[in-house]
Amino acid sequence: MLKEKTTVLKFGGTSVADAECIKRVCSIAIREAESANLIMVVSAMGKTTDGLVKLAKDFNSLPEGRELDMLLSTGEQVTASLVAMCLHEMGYAASSLLAWQSGFITEREHNQARIAKIKTERINEHLAKGEIIVLAGFQGITECGEVTTLGRGGTDTSAVAVAAALGAQKCDIYTDVDGVFTTDPRIIPEAKKLDLISYEEMLELASLGAKVLHPRSVELAKKYNIDLSVRSSFKPEDKGTRVIKLSEVQDMELTQAVTGVALDKKQAKLGFMGVPDTPGIASKIFKTLAENNVSVDVILQSVPREGIIDIAFTVNQDYLQKAIKISKELALEVKAAEVVHDDDIAKISIVGAGMLNKPGIASEMFTALYDADINIQMITTSEIKISCIIDLAQAEAAVKVIHEKFNLAQPVQEIIV
Ligand code: ADP
Ligand code: ASP
Ligand code: MG
Repeated sequence: MLKEKTTVLKFGGTSVADAECIKRVCSIAIREAESANLIMVVSAMGKTTDGLVKLAKDFNSLPEGRELDMLLSTGEQVTASLVAMCLHEMGYAASSLLAWQSGFITEREHNQARIAKIKTERINEHLAKGEIIVLAGFQGITECGEVTTLGRGGTDTSAVAVAAALGAQKCDIYTDVDGVFTTDPRIIPEAKKLDLISYEEMLELASLGAKVLHPRSVELAKKYNIDLSVRSSFKPEDKGTRVIKLSEVQDMELTQAVTGVALDKKQAKLGFMGVPDTPGIASKIFKTLAENNVSVDVILQSVPREGIIDIAFTVNQDYLQKAIKISKELALEVKAAEVVHDDDIAKISIVGAGMLNKPGIASEMFTALYDADINIQMITTSEIKISCIIDLAQAEAAVKVIHEKFNLAQPVQEIIV
């Protein structure tokens, strides 16, 4: 009964927000199921997960990771069962599976668990019966039976992981926009849809806040060479954006120094002020944060004055309360005068493989911000990206001026290299 091809389709929250949306995604799935063994991976309906996070906070300002996972994982269970029911109503055999049933084994790192392996026996059994499989995304199970989640937006990663485990020929991520754009089309309506983007650039954009794909899904797709596309569940006839190897992106596209602009409004800044300028301080602070699973992003250390320095860094807002608690405890140990924090900040980044050998890109970005009277608080760069921390109130304006500065709304010009 098994077909030669296997396809994984992922549907995000907006794509399964209500009955009409669920019927629409089932129609897409049915079409694909004609020629392939089909796995649908679904997110919680609409803004369900946000609602559950809020609900948890009504009971506890810093809920334990384990209990939060018990709560958040329920959102995807609701969708998976409803999708399966809808498929039955349409005359198709289907089974919904939760992580413990689909063998989705993760480590025990609550709220941001990494996938260890997928025991695919059960999925294969159902596929062999000719059923469409509807997997609850975002969730996992440890070898000891503890419920975990993969981190916000993690259903993309569930989908790519199962595609890799089953050797699927393609993995289509259906969402509420037409594909990957030069920047968030909800902020800049003129943003241009990209037909192709490299794994490398997509990984940077996703890591820097373009939430259209979960960063780990791109990492996995690159590692296992998965044919990954981002498409609209509202326009299934459109091809969307394909994520491919850098070497396969045409020269024409690569001639753009900057491929996209990403905005991350979920950043928060912490500062250890007035710390003695002695060796080991940074090591102590960042080691302790890492031991507590707080990922630090941009770091800035001031020039010493009279033997005193300030160390500032950013974290994701979800980890701010945890980071403040740890930092306040650490302040005594490292003899900091005070710990300050600010979550009215945003990180704006430009990404482009084409900027590798082109000098002057950073200065163009800084000039665009300066011309718009936007102050840069921190800067960080890597080979194919430049990020600045700015005031949150100026975030959207910053995206606009930078998008304009690099002419990203214009069609790609053919440039002779
Ligand atoms: P889903 O619920 O389908 O997973 P998400 O909300 O996680 O959808 O991701 C889709 C959203 O990502 C879009 O609605 C858009 O606002 C945002 N986004 C940010 N940057 C980009 C970009 N460069 N291209 C496309 N969408 C982007
Ligand atoms: N429902 C989860 C979230 O909102 C996972 C996902 O949508 O990818 O983060
Ligand atoms: Mg998402």
